[in-house]
Amino acid sequence: MPIDLKTLTIAEATHALRNGEYTAIQLTDAYLTAAKIGNQTLNAYAEIFDDAREDAKRADEMFKNGTATALTGIPVAVKDNMLIAGKISASGSKMLMNHRGVYDATVITQLKKAGAVILGRTNMDEFAMGSSTETCAYGIVKNPHDLTRVPGGSSGGAAAAVAGGLALVSLGSDTGGSIRQPAALCGIVGLKPTYGAVSRYGLMAMASSFDQIGPFGRTVKDTETLFNIISGFDRHDSTSVADEHPLRTKVTPKEKLVIGVPQSFVDIDGIDPDVRENFKHTITKLKDAGHMIREIELPLLPKALAVYYVLMPAEVSANLARYDGIRYGFSKEAEKLIDVYTQSRGEGFGKEVRRRILLGTYVLSTGYYDAYYNKAVAVRRLITEELQRAFKDVDVIATPTTPSPAFKIGEKTADPLKMYLEDIYTVSANVAGVPGISVPSGKLVRDGVSLPVGIQFIAAPFQEDVLFVAGKAVEQI
Ligand code: GLN
Repeated sequence: MPIDLKTLTIAEATHALRNGEYTAIQLTDAYLTAAKIGNQTLNAYAEIFDDAREDAKRADEMFKNGTATALTGIPVAVKDNMLIAGKISASGSKMLMNHRGVYDATVITQLKKAGAVILGRTNMDEFAMGSSTETCAYGIVKNPHDLTRVPGGSSGGAAAAVAGGLALVSLGSDTGGSIRQPAALCGIVGLKPTYGAVSRYGLMAMASSFDQIGPFGRTVKDTETLFNIISGFDRHDSTSVADEHPLRTKVTPKEKLVIGVPQSFVDIDGIDPDVRENFKHTITKLKDAGHMIREIELPLLPKALAVYYVLMPAEVSANLARYDGIRYGFSKEAEKLIDVYTQSRGEGFGKEVRRRILLGTYVLSTGYYDAYYNKAVAVRRLITEELQRAFKDVDVIATPTTPSPAFKIGEKTADPLKMYLEDIYTVSANVAGVPGISVPSGKLVRDGVSLPVGIQFIAAPFQEDVLFVAGKAVEQI
């Protein structure tokens, strides 16, 4: 039977699989075919796994013997920075193009246990640094809504795969916006969970005090289902929060929320006027639906971008020191050891990665450490406290997800600062470690093409369920 792969949801697929309308193998074959054809234009995948059919076989067994879960037989795509035993994980970098995982990342173990089908690994900005997926060693990913535009980044492949019907759901990682921004630009839902909610064991580190793995889906419910499978304590990740921790206690969220709107932040320069209009319109609709809108002042929030672009490169420079041409990946032979290091790193890393390593090394160097690194750490604390105070009065804080819809391929590559401004609304959730979700809020026309934009909600730590209520409210208006 024909399945609409572009609109299918987890609940619909599960229903059909349980009722025998089709098997997991048939569903997987349909997605594998769509992925192979669609990838020729979108380049969402670095690699499509033919052995996904083996996962599907196991899934069909689970349905037969009554052990199926909410994710059994569901075809999932995974960003190229999560380890899968026996498969290449390259983080979109020439440095790691021959690097094979020797163990499964915890999220992969969880997917496999739940009976999910892993369709392939998706393209990303090199080492997750970027907002456009233009720095990927496997080539540029295209936005399914307009092939001349970027899908966002860094998890652009994971977002484009879901939006283009080449996967049902996917996993990305978000250090400063890399799930929410591509979700917005591709017209799907993306969740960055609370720092410590999902294990990062087996995720290649970019900036360890910000990184989180999270789901993409076409509906809020799909991201919720996937989140519930991957969240939980993991002893392999020292930043993972214990399941018994009071913060993780589930409370049923209210049906009608108090939504905080930091109006002066929404009104800042550099945001497209129709994005602002779209946001205002969405908020008005939420008000009409019975939610309470409260204008709030968060004067420190715009500083999160500067804080992020000091601390993130510092952590990048430390984390990427391990790629030395000796222990991992790409290696250049040379007579002197120092030349092995410099040539391997000089050729193995792309320009943006090298820029961030240099910036990070600079802000950590003697004489500048106090002026940059320590100051940013102090401001980070103030931002976190500002948000903590705000969440005493409101359930969620709403902003646009991005300042504009998808931009043209090549439009921002020459000016890194322009590219970094893409993250203006998303980074604060990473800086404060709180969860954030982007939900489609409509379409705006550019050059005669309709392009999606998103609304973002952030909430207090471990209040993902409140984000799902807010997200579903947007879906219903
Ligand atoms: N766009 C941001 C950056 O370039 C965020 C990246 C991410 O979240 N991985 O750093």
